[in-house]
Amino acid sequence: MRMVMIAAPGAGKGTQASRIATHFGIPHIATGSLLRSHVERDTRLGRTVRGYMDRGTLVPDRIVLRMVRRALTEAKAAGVGYVLDGYPRTPAQAGSVYQVAAELEMTADVALHLEIDDEEAVRRMLSRSAAEHRTDDTESVIRRRLALYHEVTRPVLDWYAERRILLCVDGMAPVDAVTARVLELLEVVEATPPVDRAPKIPLPALV
Ligand code: AMP
Repeated sequence: MRMVMIAAPGAGKGTQASRIATHFGIPHIATGSLLRSHVERDTRLGRTVRGYMDRGTLVPDRIVLRMVRRALTEAKAAGVGYVLDGYPRTPAQAGSVYQVAAELEMTADVALHLEIDDEEAVRRMLSRSAAEHRTDDTESVIRRRLALYHEVTRPVLDWYAERRILLCVDGMAPVDAVTARVLELLEVVEATPPVDRAPKIPLPALV
């Protein structure tokens, strides 16, 4: 199983991705968690990205793409698939990850979209904020991240729809019901031979 997850912040992407990873025995590559771990360890990279994350803006793509490339290369070496959570977040990133994955013969079989409305996303992120103390879960930053999602991430869905690998699932249902539905659909994908439907739209240059 090779897949990417596209969803608004607060849609339950991380939870579902982790369950999918366990179910299929594949690595869960979460760009936000990888970046947060650098911030928490106060590495040089962490100091570079902290400001972007605290403001709820996107970290420069060359930094995130390097992490994704490394993780996909490791998955390839281990002979496994992947669930990529948090990347791509822009049409340019969709092009970049396609190129990196194509070089490794590891392009995604499916792009999973969890649909959720904005007010529910805000409600969930505020409750997560209380539990996890994430510095990017204040209401103003949450609103900015949602606006950014609508402006630059949602268009990525068209890109996957055009490649005919987009699956949409209602993310408003209780978390276990979402997992059950997602796994049911992914089992069908897994049983179907993968088809690499190359994008027809020109790819943006790699960063
Ligand atoms: P997440 O945990 O996926 O909500 O990501 C948390 C933060 O990490 C985002 O608000 C961005 O600042 C940064 N981030 C995660 N993934 C990406 C990406 N693909 N491109 C740029 N920034 C990212």
